[in-house]
Amino acid sequence: MELLGKTALITGSTSGIGYAIANKLANEGVNIFLNSFTDNPEDYKLAADLSLKHSISAKYICADLRIASQSRKLVAETKHIDILVNNAGIQYVSSIESLPSEKWDDMIAVMLSAVFHTTAVALPMMKRAKWGRIINISSAHGLVASPQKAGYVAAKHGVVGLTKVTALETAEDAITVNAVCPGFTETPLLTKQIPSLMKQYSMTKKELIDNVLMERQPSKKFVTSEQISGLVKFLCSKDADQITGSAISIDGGWTAL
Ligand code: NAD
Repeated sequence: MELLGKTALITGSTSGIGYAIANKLANEGVNIFLNSFTDNPEDYKLAADLSLKHSISAKYICADLRIASQSRKLVAETKHIDILVNNAGIQYVSSIESLPSEKWDDMIAVMLSAVFHTTAVALPMMKRAKWGRIINISSAHGLVASPQKAGYVAAKHGVVGLTKVTALETAEDAITVNAVCPGFTETPLLTKQIPSLMKQYSMTKKELIDNVLMERQPSKKFVTSEQISGLVKFLCSKDADQITGSAISIDGGWTAL
């Protein structure tokens, strides 16, 4: 329980990978700030459930990470965090010619600019505490590209670069900064894309998963949110003190292809 009593903010954590990371860290005795932009009663209930289940403090803070001032206010409102997991993400599948410019702006704002803003506010907190962990959830698409995903791929590559700069600027401060690059993981972000992909490829769901998605992922298995949260927990541990500035793949071999 080396993380007992530390505090983590996980952005975009009312669903999928973010909620799994929150659970994993809470299980280690870490106090949790959950975030999304929805502000539903269920969001506050998720925090209350987490608190009860793990006997830790858990709070929900609503902030729309498309807006710079809200990204900065989100971190400022916590007063102090030891661990920042930049996880919020969105997807819009389209060719470059048809991609609406506001969708491009949203993807860059949520998955790249927000990471810059939350990091800028969190770093002084971590420097004061002389310890910190920043984990940016990038993607296999932070290392390689796919057609129809210009905004997503650009943001995810950008966040790998930002991770390296942040790691260099904090290398002597007992703060580590890494990017995690998952392959396909069954969460709402992925499952929402399946109906339009089924139409595009004229395939059943099973055919699409076996022949299109798993063609990219040599293990032929989805990565699980549990596996990603296990990697995040490891990156927060003492054993990971010297891992900084890395982009760590967890993708069933996708980027080895
Ligand atoms: P998800 O859709 O389940 O969760 C996304 C979260 O981000 C939600 O809590 C949502 O409310 C939040 N969010 C979206 N827009 C926001 C905004 N404007 N402000 C604040 N919060 C916002 O998705 P997921 O699959 O769990 O994705 C988590 C991260 O993992 C994302 O960065 C995604 O790009 C990355 N990722 C996912 C996969 C995959 O296959 N699912 C693969 C690689 C990387």
